[in-house]
Amino acid sequence: MKPFRYELAEDAEGAVATMVRPGAAYLAGGTNLVDLMKLGVTAPDLIVDVSDLPYREVETFEGGGLRIGALVTNSELATHPVVRTRYPAVSEALLAGASGQLRNRATVGGNLLQRTRCRYFQDLTKACNKRIPGSGCDARDGEHHDLAILGASPQCIATNPSDLAVALAMVDASVHYIGPHGPAAISVHDLFRRPGDRPDRDTNLPPGSLITAVVLPDCAIAAGSRYRKVRDRASFAFAAGSVAAALDVREGVVHDVRLAWGAVAHLPWRAWAAERALRGAPATPESFERAAEEELTTAKPLRDNGYKVPLLRNLTVGLLREMTP
Ligand code: SF4
Repeated sequence: MKPFRYELAEDAEGAVATMVRPGAAYLAGGTNLVDLMKLGVTAPDLIVDVSDLPYREVETFEGGGLRIGALVTNSELATHPVVRTRYPAVSEALLAGASGQLRNRATVGGNLLQRTRCRYFQDLTKACNKRIPGSGCDARDGEHHDLAILGASPQCIATNPSDLAVALAMVDASVHYIGPHGPAAISVHDLFRRPGDRPDRDTNLPPGSLITAVVLPDCAIAAGSRYRKVRDRASFAFAAGSVAAALDVREGVVHDVRLAWGAVAHLPWRAWAAERALRGAPATPESFERAAEEELTTAKPLRDNGYKVPLLRNLTVGLLREMTP
């Protein structure tokens, strides 16, 4: 491993000022960064340890809503009583990810910034535009059964690996950060990006930004929300496909609905078209299926990941059926 310097950040502003130097990386839980350093995928000159900064609280707002410090661990958030009652999909998504040991270390901020698990990204002998821009994409004609069917580009078909991000997209969370120009916030929908011709960029955060909190808005429909994940084995596996859903049915008609999909795109995929198709429709399996099909009309599966199209359709229909009163 390449030698690096280590600094323990004393305040956020100082950490951000240090991070704008090329070759620096933040360390919090370390559950992704350390793996990538061992693999040689990343080799920072300087590690800025932010784990002592004061972002470990979950605060409830009077009118509803939550502010979650970026250093709250996945375990702490998953078991928080307000999260479990008002945003159960967030809790379920966290508990569906990684293992107990990793959830005890991994932080909310780090969860959102984890890199893709595309096997070619992690293999220095392979071409990967995300690791080395312009080098090519060996996944496209290689092993891509777990990669994107929506919103990909010729340069990259990677998927976002975060379960939490899918649930946050469903509830319209916002991400607060300190950037080079001071504190700012960004909608979770704008935080993540499609790969386009810059797959090396996972997010729209300015370089050096430090995530300080995630804010969940007051969202009554989220109190009945669910998260359902399909994966190759029962635990400690990334999703082949996942759905976060919230449903409000009144007199047999869909009054409101929220749907977001995971493991299908470079970003957590909010199923806006499916939601539009469902609002005002009868709450029936046929409507659920039509809505999922509507969302999937833009899917562009490759040789080995076409199974994700029926998987996402069936997962969505099955979950909405269970949630229908
Ligand atoms: Fe790299 Fe993206 Fe291609 Fe994977 S899909 S090899 S991450 S460019």
